[in-house]
Amino acid sequence: MKQHRARKRFGQNFLQDESIISRMVAAMKLLPDDQVIEVGPGLAALTLPLLEQLPQLTVVEIDRDLIDRLKALNLSGLSIHEGDVLKVDWHAMSQTMDPNKKLRIVGNLPYNIGTPLLLELLNVHPFVQDIHVMLQKEVVDRLHAQTGSRAYGRLSVLMQSVFSVTPLFNVPAAAFDPMPKIESTVVRLRTRSDALSVETLSSLQQTTRLAFANKRKTLRNNFKGHLDEIALQELDINPQARAETLELDAFMRLASRLEKT
Ligand code: SAM
Repeated sequence: MKQHRARKRFGQNFLQDESIISRMVAAMKLLPDDQVIEVGPGLAALTLPLLEQLPQLTVVEIDRDLIDRLKALNLSGLSIHEGDVLKVDWHAMSQTMDPNKKLRIVGNLPYNIGTPLLLELLNVHPFVQDIHVMLQKEVVDRLHAQTGSRAYGRLSVLMQSVFSVTPLFNVPAAAFDPMPKIESTVVRLRTRSDALSVETLSSLQQTTRLAFANKRKTLRNNFKGHLDEIALQELDINPQARAETLELDAFMRLASRLEKT
């Protein structure tokens, strides 16, 4: 088979560094009956070591050429789901496996789908045990940012309401071929035992959309037409404050108040 030419539109930067591959797989602490889904197996850099520890593995890949290569490897225990991971019906996928077991998701994600995929997974968190992914470092900084920091925003509030977020290690551009222009970080997101219900999450999504609509504006301005100054004060929230200074608790009070309006 001739050499695969990396496709930019599919964010193809293939992992070359064996020590990074081993660290990432080791971080998952796999058990043989885990239900693991790998996003974007590519040339199987992670797929092969995963299959050394798992009798079954499902992968989701969009690139037909890479799918043909994977098929040609004839790997025992490998199920290939062909298509866009952003269109996966996670509920249906978990039903085709053992529905009593949650999914463990892993992947060296293409940079353009990292955030949209995590936002999708947020809504199906009842099916998800944990996620170990390689992302742009800057996205990981936003995922685990604390109140008041520059990176703190809507993504931080939403993800932290459902997952405990642990950045694991940084990966230099030289670990990939072709080399990306940015640094990457491997992060673990574990579904919290007190994760918000999917219904409450939906009102938190609306609340954070309003609160962060304009990061430089005060909450009073961003909530105009939805909650007035008195309503904000009743929730013990300073109308002159900006969203980046609010803790998750305050967003939750706002979300349940907005649910009632
Ligand atoms: N896992 C391999 C590695 O670490 O070397 C490849 C990682 S590469 C950064 C991203 C992979 O995701 C590629 O195989 C690419 O074709 C695939 N991909 C890109 N967009 C995708 C999508 N929307 N759905 C599924 N796979 C996608």
